[in-house]
Amino acid sequence: MNTTLARPDLTAADRCDRCGAAAQVRAILPSGGELLFCGHHARLHKERLRELAADLQQGEA
Ligand SMILES: [Zn+2]
Repeated sequence: MNTTLARPDLTAADRCDRCGAAAQVRAILPSGGELLFCGHHARLHKERLRELAADLQQGEA
């Protein structure tokens, strides 16, 4: 199984896990989990995500 790099781009159907707005950032955790954030929540959680060594992927605005 090799799904690590096969992540689809963020689309308008992807929603922020926190508020339900359109997702602009995907955070991939070292554990393999992933979180979606709107621009607002991406900024809000940026420090925490960095501590977790999450890989942040910017979607299209
Ligand atoms: Zn949000």
